[in-house]
Amino acid sequence: MKIAILSQDPRLYSTRRLREAGEDQGHKVRVINYLRCYMNITSRNPTIVYNGRQLENFDAIIPRIAVSRTFYGTAVVRQFEVMGVFSPNESQAISRSRDKLRCLQILAREGIGLPVTGFAHATQDIDGLIETVGGAPLVIKLLEGTQGLGVVLAETKQAARSVIEAFRGLDANILVQEFIEEAKGADLRCFVVGDKVVAAMRRQGAPGEFRSNLHRGGSARMAKLTPEERETAIRSAQAMGLQVAGVDLLRSNNGPVVMEVNSSPGLEGIERSTEIDVAGRIIEFVAKAAKQGRSGDRIKY
Ligand code: ADP
Repeated sequence: MKIAILSQDPRLYSTRRLREAGEDQGHKVRVINYLRCYMNITSRNPTIVYNGRQLENFDAIIPRIAVSRTFYGTAVVRQFEVMGVFSPNESQAISRSRDKLRCLQILAREGIGLPVTGFAHATQDIDGLIETVGGAPLVIKLLEGTQGLGVVLAETKQAARSVIEAFRGLDANILVQEFIEEAKGADLRCFVVGDKVVAAMRRQGAPGEFRSNLHRGGSARMAKLTPEERETAIRSAQAMGLQVAGVDLLRSNNGPVVMEVNSSPGLEGIERSTEIDVAGRIIEFVAKAAKQGRSGDRIKY
């Protein structure tokens, strides 16, 4: 089978591992920098040009689109779709997952456990917003943040008010969320491929840090999930129309709650902490699903 990995850099751990795993399984794999592709959107004969040549036919693509490149990256993925090439995560599903609010709205509709969350832009009713999530302590998030940047814990109502006012001054969209204190600065990254969780790790924030992001100094180890956590992760990926996804959960007193569903989850942390060949599992799934031409995206939103 011919597989293209859409990635900006062949040296990235995830890209390297996917290529290796693909070649080990006997496929022909090519890494394509999607930013360097251009598209011919002619009726009935859509094509993609790369390095001055029309791209050959692929059976499947594996998109690894950077958050900062969502617009162009998803356009390239869509062009492959129009050309009939299989993608485990389709362009719509990737765009959907990039919007934290949309993600939460879709998960809520499916009855999946979430922290109580409020969303605002320029409300005058700051106290009302704080009360919707049960008062302080609470977490305030910039909608556009990643890797834990723009995620603030406000321990008192006064602090919450000041942070919300500051963000309002910046003209930002914010989420206000109940603080899941009992998670104790840890979260679970569940790596979903198809309809299975193939690996899971527990990330623990550095001492005194409530954010567990590895980029913020957190550490990771293999996690054993409860059946409820497993099911929540799988349902979340399916609700988003993603067949390869990193679902982040917190262990709350009311069961697992979902923080976010990532459509280009990194392989390095999860493979190193679990010693599971996640790249191999992705390739196996993609090869099988591409043969069946199975699309995972049946979502309306
Ligand atoms: P990002 O997308 O920037 O990583 P997240 O929303 O995932 O932002 O938040 C970063 C980290 O902060 C999470 O992994 C989690 O450890 C912690 N966190 C986020 N929201 C909450 C919350 N409501 N309660 C407790 N911890 C939280």
